[in-house]
Amino acid sequence: MKDRTLLMIPGPIEFEPAVLAEMGAPTTSHLAPHFIEAFGQALERMRQVWQSTDGQPFILAGTGTLAMDCAGANLVEPGDKALVVDTGYFSQRYAAILERYGAQVTIVSASPGGRPGLEEVEAALQAAALQGGGFKLMTITHVDTSTAVLADVPGLSALGRRYGALVVVDGVCSVAGEQLKMSEWGVDVALTASQKAIGVPPGLALLVASQRAIEAFQNRKTPVLNYYADWTNWLPIMQAYEARKASYFGTPAVNLVFALNVSLGQIQAEGLEARFARHAALSRACKAGITALGLGQVPLQPEFAAHTLSAPRFPAGVGGADFLAWVGKAGVTLAGGLYPSIRTEYFRIGHMGAARLGDILATLSAVEQGLQGCGYVFELGRSLQAAQSAWND
Ligand code: PMP
Repeated sequence: MKDRTLLMIPGPIEFEPAVLAEMGAPTTSHLAPHFIEAFGQALERMRQVWQSTDGQPFILAGTGTLAMDCAGANLVEPGDKALVVDTGYFSQRYAAILERYGAQVTIVSASPGGRPGLEEVEAALQAAALQGGGFKLMTITHVDTSTAVLADVPGLSALGRRYGALVVVDGVCSVAGEQLKMSEWGVDVALTASQKAIGVPPGLALLVASQRAIEAFQNRKTPVLNYYADWTNWLPIMQAYEARKASYFGTPAVNLVFALNVSLGQIQAEGLEARFARHAALSRACKAGITALGLGQVPLQPEFAAHTLSAPRFPAGVGGADFLAWVGKAGVTLAGGLYPSIRTEYFRIGHMGAARLGDILATLSAVEQGLQGCGYVFELGRSLQAAQSAWND
């Protein structure tokens, strides 16, 4: 019997064998010619996958939180005003990071599963402009993994730009899974972590910064308050590797960078549009299955729902720990709720990166096993029919 379950949480995800093979390859020097080439190529590929014409990519050893921290540390100076568009737990984490660097943070929130309207966000931008100064930056969580809510990045970004704010997008649960047109949409920093739709084991913090963001960093009047994350240290390193020269500030995560380059190559081979369409189709199939079982979802409206994960609500009488244990016995690992005030009311299914229809069907089957184990009454197989019909549409 296979001694591992199908990993369908919203990160880390199941990884492609060619990516995993890089993790087990003998580690080379970070000065080795073939590593320099892989690092340089990965930086160029990031710019293409982020759909940025002239952005500056950064590959750092760390997690998604470091990527958030890095953008905050380099762009915020004490006393700057910042606006956080709050769609969940990770948006709120961004507010805490910006405050740590001395920003005066305004948060525009919605109830769990909702998202603030463009008019509310514009009102906040307008109010700050009237008080003088306006916001130095705004943050948007493209997909908040705690609520499975997808933000309207093009709409919000256009607003931010209109009021002169730098637009920072937390794309940890979106990059390479949801459409993101960094240059066309006017995004100044888009960041992610390796373990989600980029398809590489945890351990890399990935950012692309627009030239406008780099200029804002260069025009700082005060030093960056985080030594490791300071772009002063990393900008020359990234520029050197892209020019196919070795350089050193901190030892690169050699195997992870090789793995990243392989995964970015696979993403390009699939094609961005085809990849986004596959994520949308997987999401449609998964959500159709959930709905067919009579379960609601955390996002308050279908157009707010992400394509990289789903957040089904438990039916009355079904509890998280028991349910997830049954699902595990059926061979699938799923995640519980995360948003504090509704944590026990829902669970989460990740469907990004290497996921295929078969994975969705195996997951829905395990969900049915879990619901049945918890005493919920429904017609067995109903979600599989609905998912396949949605997929065929
Ligand atoms: N932002 C979002 C939207 C996330 O989903 C996560 C991780 N789930 C993070 C930030 C933080 O990433 P990490 O756990 O890699 O630090």
